[in-house]
Amino acid sequence: MIGIFGGTFDPVHYGHLRSAVEVKDIFGLAEIRFIPGANPPHREQPAAMAIMRLQMLELAIKNQPGLTCDTRELEREGYSYTVDTLKSLRQEFPRKSLLLFIGSDAFNGLTTWHQWQRLFDYAHIVVMTRPCFDVQELDDFYKVRQTEEITELTQHTSGKLFFQRITQLDISATAIRQLISEKKNPGFLLPDSVIEYIKQHRLYEKH
Ligand code: ATP
Repeated sequence: MIGIFGGTFDPVHYGHLRSAVEVKDIFGLAEIRFIPGANPPHREQPAAMAIMRLQMLELAIKNQPGLTCDTRELEREGYSYTVDTLKSLRQEFPRKSLLLFIGSDAFNGLTTWHQWQRLFDYAHIVVMTRPCFDVQELDDFYKVRQTEEITELTQHTSGKLFFQRITQLDISATAIRQLISEKKNPGFLLPDSVIEYIKQHRLYEKH
């Protein structure tokens, strides 16, 4: 099984990193791929250039076995649609289970994603839940796909919906960018190597 962790990573932080190592162990994954998006269709454009967001990710996962970066969204023209990313991963790995990990906040907006129902044609979706963050009531499309058995995720290569509770770290890239723009210390919210990179390149500073 391969885990897929998409996002803007503007910048990557311990909320992303801790979740990734935790689900990697829970689901016994050989690999978790971080896939930074180029032009997210749902939100305003990232503050840092794509290449810099990628370099920060690479610094963060250096020497972490099984955590990798996948640059396919940065190499594609136009919007980064997750459905296109999953389709190309499926072509590359026709027989492997693919697990797309998303936070419960992202899940609550899933039906606004481009061709969202087709995501299940290519991968399972695992929602990383937060105890104080309610997931919307599931409609029938979701109910028939939901499973509580990890073995279902290994027996099928795509199509299931799974909810997994993970350790909660109330960290967001937005809050980190805000701290830096106010010249406050973002220490212990993200790796030191990434903080160093941000300083060197004067990212997120108020001009
Ligand atoms: P921003 O504040 O800029 O919106 P973010 O911190 O939410 O950024 P993203 O890159 O947008 O980070 O998130 C990518 C994925 O990581 C999403 O599925 C999101 O739900 C999840 N995620 C982000 N922060 C956390 C966290 N603290 N714990 C668990 N999952 C997280």
